[in-house]
Amino acid sequence: MGLFSSKPKIKVQTTKKDGFSGWLKCTHCSELIHGNELEQNLHCCPKCNYHYRLSAPQRVELLADKETFKELFTEYKPVDPLKFVDSKPYKQRLIESQKKTGRHDAVVVGTCELYKRPVALGVLDFGFMGGSMGSVVGEKLCLLIELACKEHLPLIFVSASGGARMQEGILSLMQMAKTSAALAKYEDTGLPYISVLTNPTTGGVTASYATLGDIIIAEPDALIGFAGPRVVEQTTREKLPPGAQKSEFLLEKGMIDCIVNRHQLKDKLSLILEYLTNTVHAKEDPLQQELQEMLEEVSSVR
Ligand SMILES: [Zn+2]
Repeated sequence: MGLFSSKPKIKVQTTKKDGFSGWLKCTHCSELIHGNELEQNLHCCPKCNYHYRLSAPQRVELLADKETFKELFTEYKPVDPLKFVDSKPYKQRLIESQKKTGRHDAVVVGTCELYKRPVALGVLDFGFMGGSMGSVVGEKLCLLIELACKEHLPLIFVSASGGARMQEGILSLMQMAKTSAALAKYEDTGLPYISVLTNPTTGGVTASYATLGDIIIAEPDALIGFAGPRVVEQTTREKLPPGAQKSEFLLEKGMIDCIVNRHQLKDKLSLILEYLTNTVHAKEDPLQQELQEMLEEVSSVR
């Protein structure tokens, strides 16, 4: 789990003189950072800009205009059809994650406004069984895609996931095909789908809906791949180049379209949606037209 570690470690407990009891040590640059400062900086290290993981509610808060998010399809609950037991029964894992996160499963979907533009937003929560995609996650994503088709909404998915949920066996693998098929239908509407990959996005999520975006954005230094680096090295018996499976490497190789700092993410999403939906406006402005053509080229390549 070393590569997935995304929480600064508590290093020093101070007295409560400043009203705050803990200093944190950045797991990336080892500098001491103040917890409040980290929070104010959108959970990015103020010293090295390492992007720590956000929970689904934090991500929604970052992207949705205040009080516009309407969560949907909350009634769906996971079941344990295989009566799966690894080191713990699946049922027990579910109960623990549900207690920890206060939700039934690993995805939050709904509609909101992004700078007053209505969008459909889906966010995976890594805190719930590693953001793994089981039947409920797949179903809720598909329901949101169908809603976006019906209501002509642009679609944004933010992923943070260890992949398919092995405790649901083939049923979780089916979600890869199901979400991809739903997106193929969505594509016919001509509406934009933007996929945001955060640290880490791996396995069946990378291998399905998350890399089918018209535009694929990644946060800096995010681990993005199918199998983890260790598994790839063991299987191919070759050493991976440094930084392989990180955003910057994948941008260079054309796997993603851009890397966006968390502080600019909402603005950038808004700008891209503007280019992709306001065709009339874009035609009047040569610079916007050029960008529009570039974006169309990107989306036609996939
Ligand atoms: Zn740092």
